[in-house]
Amino acid sequence: MGGLVEQIVEAVRSVVPPCAAPAPLHAPEFRGAEKAYLADCIDSGWVSSVGAYVDRFERELAALTGAARAVAVVNGTAALDVCLRLAGVQPGDEVLVPTLTFVATANAVAYRGATPHFVDSEGLTLGVDPYRLDAYLDRIARVTDGACVNRRTGAPIRALVAMHVFGHPCDIDGLVEVANRWRLVLVEDAAEALGSRWRGRHAGTFGRLGALSFNGNKIVTTGGGGAVVTDDPELGRRAKHLTTTAKVPHAWAFDHDEIGWNYRLPNLNAALGCAQLDQLDGMIARKARLAGSYAAAFAGLEGVSMLTPREGAEVNHWLNALILDKPDMAVRDAALETLNAAGFGARPLWTLMHRLPMYAGCPRDELPVAAALAARVINLPSSAALADA
Ligand SMILES: *Cc1c(COP(=O)(O)O)cnc(C)c1O
Repeated sequence: MGGLVEQIVEAVRSVVPPCAAPAPLHAPEFRGAEKAYLADCIDSGWVSSVGAYVDRFERELAALTGAARAVAVVNGTAALDVCLRLAGVQPGDEVLVPTLTFVATANAVAYRGATPHFVDSEGLTLGVDPYRLDAYLDRIARVTDGACVNRRTGAPIRALVAMHVFGHPCDIDGLVEVANRWRLVLVEDAAEALGSRWRGRHAGTFGRLGALSFNGNKIVTTGGGGAVVTDDPELGRRAKHLTTTAKVPHAWAFDHDEIGWNYRLPNLNAALGCAQLDQLDGMIARKARLAGSYAAAFAGLEGVSMLTPREGAEVNHWLNALILDKPDMAVRDAALETLNAAGFGARPLWTLMHRLPMYAGCPRDELPVAAALAARVINLPSSAALADA
């Protein structure tokens, strides 16, 4: 065991030289017009929840993703909340989500008064496994009057949230098929996948609605921020309305026609986002180079491999995931300890959702692949700047 851990640390050292440590998992980078755009906001007085940068950021996101509409919001979690509300998720519903995800995916379901229902992932993309999901639904669900119902609980299974892990597109074609067959609204948690595409189409645009995040640790950041993307103009209009307090447009009256949110992204944050989007292509190119260096460094090492884009996927290389051939918590933890002690910000997968106390009682399929992956995955320092090291 000592041997493999030492070899892992050596390989990381060959990519990230000690002079580049401490190397956090993912550091933001501001090399463009950030300061100029922020100064412009301050000089103009438009710093808050309306302003030209909000409109521009939304237009640029729509153009980048190819979605008919993008609506900027305060963070990715809020974006998921909006997606699920617009997907028609009701209190008492169940929503299928991967157990292998960041906690926001499950929390957004809980915010709706619905129950997350956990399903397993597959090892090639780390995303939800459509074959296992279909077989599971055969066992526990039926479609009645065009709606999917859990035969065990009697609750409607309203939606499926697919997540693109670390920017690797999941088997979205398979999940679209399963969602159609079982009458599930497909929502994509594309928080990690800005700039990632499957067969030329941007992540987050396959389902009815998609959520993006611009948190400080994502590939580009607005400080904090998110967006809802959709191809349905009516859903786009609803997303904008609901996230802007459901205010009825009027020159001077304060009139609201339903319970909305104040989820508006401030102009300051959108300005940062516009400057960051200008640099996205360059970020992806440098991160691809870093991924190539990791791939080369680990190519000859027995017992491990890097998570590799499958054919047809364009990956943003947000995080570089090292995968142990065999689940081994002891090796995983020893590698994490040693790497972090040496100043390399390596991290494990998130604690699986069904193991968190608030979700332990939720319905779920058997989750052997996700459970094994939890003992196999080590994320390595992935800042674009490391490509220049
Ligand atoms: C970052 C992230 C979110 C939440 O985004 P925030 O902007 O931090 O609220 C949701 N889902 C996944 C998978 C994420 O990685």
